[in-house]
Amino acid sequence: MNIHYEKDVDLDVLKDKTIAVIGYGSQGRAQALNMSESGLDVVVGLRKGGASWEKAKTDGLTVLTIEEAALKADVIHILIPDEIQEAVYEAAIAEGLEEGNTISFSHGYNIHYNYIKAPKNVNVTMVAPKAPGATVRREYEEGFGVPGLVAVEQDYTGNAKEIALAMAKGSGLTRAGVLETTFKEETETDLFGEQAVLCGGATELIKAGFQTLVDAGYQPEIAYFETCHELKLIVDLIYKQGFGGMWHDVSNTAEYGGLTRRDRVITDESRAAMKEILKEIQTGKFTREFALENQAGAPMLKRMRAMEDDLQIEKVGTKLRKLCGLQK
Ligand code: NDP
Ligand code: MG
Ligand code: MG
Repeated sequence: MNIHYEKDVDLDVLKDKTIAVIGYGSQGRAQALNMSESGLDVVVGLRKGGASWEKAKTDGLTVLTIEEAALKADVIHILIPDEIQEAVYEAAIAEGLEEGNTISFSHGYNIHYNYIKAPKNVNVTMVAPKAPGATVRREYEEGFGVPGLVAVEQDYTGNAKEIALAMAKGSGLTRAGVLETTFKEETETDLFGEQAVLCGGATELIKAGFQTLVDAGYQPEIAYFETCHELKLIVDLIYKQGFGGMWHDVSNTAEYGGLTRRDRVITDESRAAMKEILKEIQTGKFTREFALENQAGAPMLKRMRAMEDDLQIEKVGTKLRKLCGLQK
């Protein structure tokens, strides 16, 4: 495994180059501000009339339309939502590309699944911070950074990797360490992680645990603390010191109970489902489904959002988080 740190990476490859960050949301704001404060020449490309325009201006950055930014820049870093990248690329970015430019992403989705078809005479790269944008920014401001990934799908100029690494350094990622990957690996593992474990798996596990206690007649507030609130404390321990550190810090009762019972919760059936979920990602089945959903105006997603809002755990949780001062 190749890991790059601060001292291994030179910003010079981006000297005299302009980077257009397209989008100023979670990742766009963080990466644009970090790279700019690292001394790189950054402009932001946005649609007129959107909320981001004033925000980026207020932050002191140069704001152009997406077309102008794509035309002006040498590196076009596309940080708008994945499901609209293809349309925006075709309408406002493709025309501005010149031989030897670099188009860059923080997630491999649109390149790996062929929604964006880049011309042969540009670099195609990825710089992916492994944290939400707000954390990318906060860590940088505190003089550190979050870990990240870089990948090169197409190396036209012969130094595409150096360009991606320099951008990673500009965003503070080499302070924590930058790993090399491929578009395929990053895209497929990222989708799998968020579906099976991080966003999908974790919420379903919490829901099931909460419901078991409530159905058995325990107070919902107590059930919330035991199955949701405390999960963060456990994950924090694992994050910092691994399973070993976590098992060491919890009681022997928790350690014995957890180790003897956990495979009755995540069963062979769950493992088989994980393999199936991964297959759907690898074959493009998931991506096709999501594209159709978006074409139809996201009806399923809207319905599921409403159902999620309606969950008892959400109502109890909102109340408790306010009482504890965790949420306004
Ligand atoms: P956001 O949803 O935060 O992006 C919002 C930005 O996109 C705004 O500036 C918005 O402008 C602009 N935008 C939205 N719709 C359009 C449109 N139709 N035309 C032009 N601009 C539009 O994106 P994220 O930062 O979450 O994601 C960006 C990329 O980073 C994705 O590839 C994602 O997978 C990746 N990524 C995201 C992470 C995260 O923490 N969120 C983590 C790692 C990678 P306006 O104000 O005008 O609406
Ligand atoms: Mg993701
Ligand atoms: Mg307990």
